Amino acid sequence: MSEKSKETEEEFSFICPSCKQGKIFIKKTVYELPDKDQMLIIKFECNHCNFTNNDIIPLTTNMEPGIKLLKIENEEDLKSKIYRSPIAKLEIPELELMVEPGPSANFYYTNVEGILDRFESAVLIYFDNLQTNDPEKNEIQELLDNIAKAKKGELPVTLKLTDEGGGSYIIPQNESKYEFIRSKSVNSNDI
Ligand SMILES: [Zn+2]
Repeated sequence: MSEKSKETEEEFSFICPSCKQGKIFIKKTVYELPDKDQMLIIKFECNHCNFTNNDIIPLTTNMEPGIKLLKIENEEDLKSKIYRSPIAKLEIPELELMVEPGPSANFYYTNVEGILDRFESAVLIYFDNLQTNDPEKNEIQELLDNIAKAKKGELPVTLKLTDEGGGSYIIPQNESKYEFIRSKSVNSNDI
């Protein structure tokens, strides 16, 4: 399929989800098709076990800086894929959950369900560390219940990805639930 291709390799401090020991290396290859459409092929490879994963993203997918919003309303929506670049902020405003950007922030390449799982684990750790009589416990229990509902698609929530550098993307299962608000301050000649 390749008329022209450009390959780059990037390393993130991203621990292998399979062996939990190796590091994931990410190879991005941009292919330009004869009709000038571009495809991005992302290959994830562990340097320790044999875990690999591939994804193909049409570059019509919006990777420009801005805010990406995805409504999660049913089980199908939970399968939408998310790539959060390390500089992007990820939020679920309805549940007041947030992952701040930063060099040490976890790298996310997963689907919506995977994101809810990670939030759930983090909240559980927090919950378990509260004293039994801590008044905050009820509030956190309610949050855990809501995350559980969202994971079944029974509680509508919004996934908000704010990326001022670009490079993050959302691949929605259902396009009509996706919205992109472009940053005004950035010129957008390239991807
Ligand atoms: Zn591995």
